[in-house]
Amino acid sequence: SYLKVMDVPFFKADGQQVTADNVRAVMRKSHMATSFTLVNSPWVMRNSRCADTATVWFDVLDSQSGATAKCLIGSSFQFGPASCFVRAAHSHSGIPLCQRCWHWGHSTRPCRSQAPRCPRCAGPHTEASHCDHASCCRGNPSVKPSQELTPAGAPCLHAMCCVNCKGDHSASDQWCPFWHHRFDQGWLAEKLAPLDLWEAFQEISQKTAEAECKGRRALGRHH
Ligand SMILES: [Zn+2]
Ligand SMILES: [Zn+2]
Ligand SMILES: [Zn+2]
Ligand SMILES: [Zn+2]
Repeated sequence: SYLKVMDVPFFKADGQQVTADNVRAVMRKSHMATSFTLVNSPWVMRNSRCADTATVWFDVLDSQSGATAKCLIGSSFQFGPASCFVRAAHSHSGIPLCQRCWHWGHSTRPCRSQAPRCPRCAGPHTEASHCDHASCCRGNPSVKPSQELTPAGAPCLHAMCCVNCKGDHSASDQWCPFWHHRFDQGWLAEKLAPLDLWEAFQEISQKTAEAECKGRRALGRHH
C-alpha cells in the first residue's frame, strides 16, 4: 500500500535537508516500527521550491485488504518537534524514463532534447533506424578484421552502449541499474543533475496528485 507523511519539516535542526535515511531512522524509532515493512526507500519531496515542508511517500508490504495501511493512516511520525500525519496515497512508478532521449527524470511528452536518441547506442537516431546509422552496423572493409554490413532487416548483434550507464544493454532494458534504483532517491541524487532530479520530483508529484484526485472516491470506500 502507498502512503504519505504530510508536512514533514524539510530542514533538520542542523539546517541540513531531510533525507530518505532520516525518514527511515524516524520510522525505526516510532512505536509503529514493528507493524510495517517498507517495500523500498521512502521519497522525500519538498512541497515547493521555497517550502520549509516536504511530503514523504512510502510503500509498505500489505495484505489484500490493506490492513497495514488502515492501521497507519491517521497515525503520526515524530520529526523533531513536529507530529506528521500519515495519509493514503496513490502509487507512483518511480522516476520517469523518457522514451525519446532515454534519459531518466522526465517522461516523453515534456522532452526537450533536440533529436530522438537511440537506446542501443545513444546515437542521434531512433532505435528503428539504428542499423542504417550506427557505425557498428555500417560495413567497414578498412578495419581488421573487416566489419561486415548488417543486412537490411537483420538485427544489430554488436555491443550496445546504454546512454545512462554505458553498459552493454539498451537504455530501455530492465537490466540497467537505473531500473532497479528508480525508487531510490539517494542513488538517483548521485547519478542525476540536481535540476533534473527536481524536475522529476515535480512530475511525480503532479502525476500522483492527479491520480489521487481521480482515485479519491475509490480510496474513500476502502478507508
Ligand atoms: Zn527526453
Ligand atoms: Zn543506435
Ligand atoms: Zn550494430
Ligand atoms: Zn544502463
